[in-house]
Amino acid sequence: MKRRKRGIRRMFAGVMAVLMALSAVNVSGWGVMNAKAEETTTRKVPQTLSIVDESQQFISIIMNGELQNDGDSGNANTLYEGTNWHYDSAKNQLVLQNASVQHITVEDGDLTVLLSGENTVSGNITSYSSNGEHTLELKSDNSGSLTVGTRIGDGTISDGSGKKMNLKITDATVHAPEISCKGSLKIENSHVIVSSGDSANYAIDTGCDISITNSYVEAKIGKGEYVISSENGLIVSNSQIMACNSGGYEDQVIDGGSFSDAVVTKQYGNNVTKSVVYGTASLIEKLTIPNNGTIVFMQGASITNQELLAVEDGAKILVNGYMIEGIEASGDTHTHNKDGDITYTWKDDKEHIKNVACKDCPIGYVTKETETHSIGENGFCACNNVYQPADLTTDKYDMDGNDSKDEVYEISNAGQLYWFAGLVNGTLSGVTQNTSANAVLTKDIVVNKNVLKSDGTLNDGTFKEWTPIATSASPYTGIFEGQNHTISGLYFKQEASFVGLFSVNSGKIANVGILDSYFYGQPEGTEKDIF
Ligand SMILES: [Zn+2]
Ligand SMILES: [Zn+2]
Repeated sequence: MKRRKRGIRRMFAGVMAVLMALSAVNVSGWGVMNAKAEETTTRKVPQTLSIVDESQQFISIIMNGELQNDGDSGNANTLYEGTNWHYDSAKNQLVLQNASVQHITVEDGDLTVLLSGENTVSGNITSYSSNGEHTLELKSDNSGSLTVGTRIGDGTISDGSGKKMNLKITDATVHAPEISCKGSLKIENSHVIVSSGDSANYAIDTGCDISITNSYVEAKIGKGEYVISSENGLIVSNSQIMACNSGGYEDQVIDGGSFSDAVVTKQYGNNVTKSVVYGTASLIEKLTIPNNGTIVFMQGASITNQELLAVEDGAKILVNGYMIEGIEASGDTHTHNKDGDITYTWKDDKEHIKNVACKDCPIGYVTKETETHSIGENGFCACNNVYQPADLTTDKYDMDGNDSKDEVYEISNAGQLYWFAGLVNGTLSGVTQNTSANAVLTKDIVVNKNVLKSDGTLNDGTFKEWTPIATSASPYTGIFEGQNHTISGLYFKQEASFVGLFSVNSGKIANVGILDSYFYGQPEGTEKDIF
């Protein structure tokens, strides 16, 4: 903690020095020259810039601050052009466009490396400072990437005199075995993968501070050493970090830090995995908590996109998290319950799946149980997808008055009404469509209750949806006899031209009352409240 405080004080001191210099010069009337001087110190063209290309040819682009001649007379004297890369001295930009080189070296100045397409530096990107603080920025135009074979690093020998190189990675995808700098490291809107073997002493290391914003950073080292380490503190926001060592301790993985709206996963020791969620975090990459792992939700923390989170059975879930000695995250054990909402999903003709949500679950856990369909109250299976078949009679009703009994389906509950609609519409699994089926109601049917308010407008709530009987393609041609019963609580709100108990009728519908029902069809937008 002390280390960090000192860092902040030093930053303040730096800002104060700049302010004082500006105001002093303004008074003496040297404002314009001073402004220029300021500009050149913040964006100073490097003294040296060189590339070793794929054929091991050393190319000096800038030497002693002078842009070298690329031998191409067609190029302006501000340009040095190589194969799939060029340096533009007007912008102080090294542009890589699907380039492939061995090394890039920059000394004593600032440089922006603009990445376009997929680029490879098979060796190092090295920066040196012998004269103060400079910044190397790796920036992508859109979705540019860079793969570095050995190291992105600051080769400066620190002697405490402020000689250092900052590194900035912006809008880019960067892969490297090691990243280090004596200055500060800023990662913004980027995807950074650092994978060290067992020869490196760290994966990411800085002599100042590290800030990671809106980024995914994955850092691994193949031994029990520091993974992400900074002298003056680590600040992470809106980001996902994955930091792993092999055989080390938890506090070696990430050495302290300040985290907001972030998910930080540490893997250490003998494959111990711990993920800590801070604030309202969004995962950038899929995260799996293994069966021997732990996920800790700090006080009030949540993950907005749980679809990217997989928590294996056996993994520990801790809530109301807190830090022990500022290093180790712990919390209260969360045990899944079955107190949340229940929903059903169709499995097949025989079974459905009952989904029971864990109430207030930080990972949105749902218990899934397979059940056989069974007809319950009102003729529906709990899954709402299976209905009680209507009762077929052959010897009770003469529907057409020809003195012979007809095949007639008796409907005594809502489920049977839905089944009959399915029969006419041909949507029942394993049952042949019959658009001329006859039906009688033997009871008043209630599908939903209180669909309409007392003033006749739609009530709040969720209602079982009705699918009108028959379609314009296959109209109803049977006889539907209500026997003066009523059907109440039909609810229909979909894009359809024909709405109602029946959609398109060419048969006969008689003696049935429709109550407390709501039909709304698009595109005509006909709204019909019946009560
Ligand atoms: Zn739960
Ligand atoms: Zn079912």
